[in-house]
Amino acid sequence: MSTYTDRPWLTHYAHGLPPDITAEYGTMLELFAASVRRAPDTQAIRYFDGVLTLADLDAASDALAVGLASGGFQPGDRLAVYLQNNPAFVVGLLGAWKAGGVAVAINPMNKARELTYLLADSGATALLCLDELYQTVAREVIASGEGVRVDTVITCSSLDWQTRNDPRLFGDTTATRAEGTLDLLELISANAGRGPDTPAPKPDDVAILTYTSGTTGVPKGAMNTHANLTFNAQTYRDWMGLTPDDSVLGVAPLFHITGLVGHVALALLVPCPLVLAHRFHPDVVIDAIREHRPTFTVGAITVFISLAGLDGVGKDDFSSFRMLYSGGAPIAPAVTDRFEEQTGLYIHNIYGLTETNSPSHGVPLGARAPVDPNSGALSVGVPVFNTVVRILGEDGEELPVGEVGEIVTSGPQVVPGYWNNPEATEASLPGGELRTGDVGFMDAGGWFFLVDRKKDMINAAGYKVWPREVEDVLYGHPAVREAAVVGVPDEYRGETVKAFVSVRPGLEVTEQELIDYCRSNMAAYKYPRSVEFIDELPKTTTGKILRRELRGS
Ligand code: AMP
Repeated sequence: MSTYTDRPWLTHYAHGLPPDITAEYGTMLELFAASVRRAPDTQAIRYFDGVLTLADLDAASDALAVGLASGGFQPGDRLAVYLQNNPAFVVGLLGAWKAGGVAVAINPMNKARELTYLLADSGATALLCLDELYQTVAREVIASGEGVRVDTVITCSSLDWQTRNDPRLFGDTTATRAEGTLDLLELISANAGRGPDTPAPKPDDVAILTYTSGTTGVPKGAMNTHANLTFNAQTYRDWMGLTPDDSVLGVAPLFHITGLVGHVALALLVPCPLVLAHRFHPDVVIDAIREHRPTFTVGAITVFISLAGLDGVGKDDFSSFRMLYSGGAPIAPAVTDRFEEQTGLYIHNIYGLTETNSPSHGVPLGARAPVDPNSGALSVGVPVFNTVVRILGEDGEELPVGEVGEIVTSGPQVVPGYWNNPEATEASLPGGELRTGDVGFMDAGGWFFLVDRKKDMINAAGYKVWPREVEDVLYGHPAVREAAVVGVPDEYRGETVKAFVSVRPGLEVTEQELIDYCRSNMAAYKYPRSVEFIDELPKTTTGKILRRELRGS
């Protein structure tokens, strides 16, 4: 019987695909420069009625890099990018790299508490953010956030590079620029025609810090290197056979690894247009599909469910797509069947983590994922090029094929570690192999299945919630004596967040008060949707709260 290192999955690769590929570019800037040279007039971004060609992106990011450098930004410095899916996001990434720096991808749903932590931990000295996020969150964080060192703030509008101003997304757009900030378009025009003179980044340099939480509840900055990104951009391109005739619909958030690699890096590599629509609003996205006729996308399964559920949406609306992939969260086989009946398109599963720069596994194009007869789980696919995945037991021993254990992954897409966090790096990446915290098995044919999780994470429609973080916020409420947060099944989100709370003697608090309290302190996908009050939380004999027991109640 074959073992993991024999890579039995290679027989499933689409016809003509090799077991290994060689990255054509060492860094994202080499990749981008090659595309600009080859096809400067290619439409790189379509954003409502706006278009940026590759040459436009090149010029804008050159000017931003010059502007950053003249504001004191040095090679190695961090530029935090706090935006929706706007063209400025891509300009910001390229500008940070051209200035020799690192981009920090920040979820635009984050509130002051979360933003403070990310800016302080990454040590960002520059911030590029939407006007409204500056006004509502970032201004105060920069003025008084503990440990925050940002000294350059560049703001921009969601209306930059477009004139449509869709009322379904954009409200009052008359916000005036706050004192002490620079405007992105002004900065670009002030430095137009100039190019940075910073040394080019190297393949092993960190390109982006993407934050992912963990059992301790404190987010860790995964160090996505240039080489990681160029490799997995090429994985997407070759696995799915994308050519310059394709176009990518950006439904995943760009701050998340799926958007960064499966949208931005991929489209810049091919090169082909990337369709952006600010944030995911199903009606707006279906209009963008009808207008721009994209051929490929990758996103959470809820994206496909909500698009297919819109009134009047049918086969024609999806006819431009050559292929669809869904990752980030489990997919029920019945959902892909229903979607295929309605649209004629099969949704291919794809699996990976922030630490694997998007895919470590995917269903080969044209193949169909088998379903595990015991658990009913749809296979997440087979390991992609150059990747070895093993299943380990509790003591770190390799388990025989077919047995259930932790999925551990090694390959050129695996990050080298976490920012300033050698302990977390050693714990999750011993010897450079990633302990995913996902529990599953490989069948004899090399297909992988996820059946459980070792980690306490809650997966709400692809958005990851770490119980410990929500519990820490709950403990900040004066009436909370003890709190435990768990994931409970949810028809649409897959899982959703529930809190169990015991109240301090003599104090009173309602479910709604606790929900509102959490809501004002964290991104919207994290706050508990329900709170159950109990007298005592279940504990081990050593006093550790048993979240798992609550999950079943
Ligand atoms: P993130 O770092 O946000 O990309 O989250 C990674 C986690 O998402 C993995 O460890 C899995 O638990 C989950 N995940 C990713 N892709 C899939 C998939 N196709 N099916 C089930 N779970 C997935």
